[in-house]
Amino acid sequence: MDSLLTFEEAQARILAAARTLPAETVPVGDAAGRVLAEDVESTVDLPPFPSSAMDGYAVRSADLPGTLRVVGESAAGTPFAGSLGEGEAVAISTGAVVPNGADAVAPIEIVVKQDNKVGIDRRLEVGASIRPQGGDLRVGKVVALAGTRLEPAGIAAIAASGVAALSCSRRPRVAILSTGSELVVPGEPLAPGQIYESNALMLAAALEVAGAEIVNEPSVPDNEASLRAAVERGLECDVLVTSGGVSVGEHDLVREVERELGVEELFWRVAIKPGKPVAFGKRGNTLVFGLPGNPLSALVGAELFVKPAVRALQGVEWPLPRFEPGCLLSNLRRNADRAEFVRAHATSHAAAVLLTALEGQESHMIGQASSANALVLVPRGNGELTRGSIVSWLRLNAP
Ligand code: AMP
Ligand code: MG
Repeated sequence: MDSLLTFEEAQARILAAARTLPAETVPVGDAAGRVLAEDVESTVDLPPFPSSAMDGYAVRSADLPGTLRVVGESAAGTPFAGSLGEGEAVAISTGAVVPNGADAVAPIEIVVKQDNKVGIDRRLEVGASIRPQGGDLRVGKVVALAGTRLEPAGIAAIAASGVAALSCSRRPRVAILSTGSELVVPGEPLAPGQIYESNALMLAAALEVAGAEIVNEPSVPDNEASLRAAVERGLECDVLVTSGGVSVGEHDLVREVERELGVEELFWRVAIKPGKPVAFGKRGNTLVFGLPGNPLSALVGAELFVKPAVRALQGVEWPLPRFEPGCLLSNLRRNADRAEFVRAHATSHAAAVLLTALEGQESHMIGQASSANALVLVPRGNGELTRGSIVSWLRLNAP
């Protein structure tokens, strides 16, 4: 058992084999979830002009306190044409250009208005309620770094910077192929010995979140000819993920067929539970994952191994899953030989994440795992992780 790879060693081999895909140009409106291939620089100062932070009156601070003559308006998008002289004020809205000559904005709440005059009975500091030009970002400053996956705030910052098109790594095309003569699509009647196919759907959902473009292959029975044809098609993609058929049974043909098709195996079997028989290899630039068929083995394999590859192909700066600390509410026995990933439900309470292990931890028990949102890492070793321990856990379904 000691000779099995640790999951960290396995991940290192995967990352060493994954090369970032070429970049393509993506309109900013389509870039949510995409990964930047180059830094993005602002094309403008932000704000592009000194702008008002409040609805009120643009004034000269030296005139205050006092009564000022209102000589015009600066509305958002429609600046005041002139400049402000002594004893004058300009009505101004939030986001409008502060007129030349003004050095402060008096919020409407402190102003007494009568006819075309405004009375302001207090002093204002120079710059009060003015957002200086470039106070947020300067033109040419980096607004988002290469390797960043674009989330809503990043998209908005890029759009605000006037950048319309971005260089993003191409999304990896990921073929998903489930193998097993027992598999039937949901909706069809089950003949004796058959079960419904669920892994391909699970893997597609998991990998799409990480940015994969999914290519679904219909499941194939455990015979060499059908398997070979499907694997050959899958090898045309950036990643091929199979489920089932990688263990030591008579009908576990995936690794053999892949070897015959020129896939170089880079590891087989990792010291984890569930999911030990996972295989990984490559042919050319195509990464090839053989996940075991038990649904929870496939799920753990997807989170630990396939998603990091999908991220790395997009050039994500930190492709490995992030373990977070949480407080365990269950007692979990450790396994002397393998790191265990226990399906759990994570909730938050005050500043802490609380982790409750789900019933039914066997690797086929997908039915009882439906509410899992976390995998608790139980490091290999002796004894037990006890209720109240601080443990490392992974969020399921992280991008
Ligand atoms: P295998 O890895 O092919 O030995 O399969 C292990 C277990 O997982 C068996 O009980 C299979 O019936 C089940 N299984 C394999 N593939 C799938 C799948 N795509 N969806 C659901 N269960 C599966
Ligand atoms: Mg099978």
